[in-house]
Amino acid sequence: MKTIDSNAELRALTSAGAGYIFNDFGGPRDTSQNRDWNKLHRANCAECDPSRDHQAMTVQTQGQKLFFPTFRDAVSWLLENRSGNYTRCMRCNPR
Ligand SMILES: [Zn+2]
Repeated sequence: MKTIDSNAELRALTSAGAGYIFNDFGGPRDTSQNRDWNKLHRANCAECDPSRDHQAMTVQTQGQKLFFPTFRDAVSWLLENRSGNYTRCMRCNPR
């Protein structure tokens, strides 16, 4: 797991297309706080592209962006840290 520190890095990851990006608004484990905001995407999801439009994801919007090289890495971290408190993007259907 790696925190994405800049929009340039976010753009590079979305354009490379491999891996997964978690839009993390936090919330304690086993609560539903922020569940609908805590969203896992494929890195190539249009919603992760910081140049998309005015609603695009950027590292300046609230919440940290986390990168995982594999789905297994992402799920492992999510089960440990956001169990029951995240959703998967309906658009890119990460799995
Ligand atoms: Zn997505």
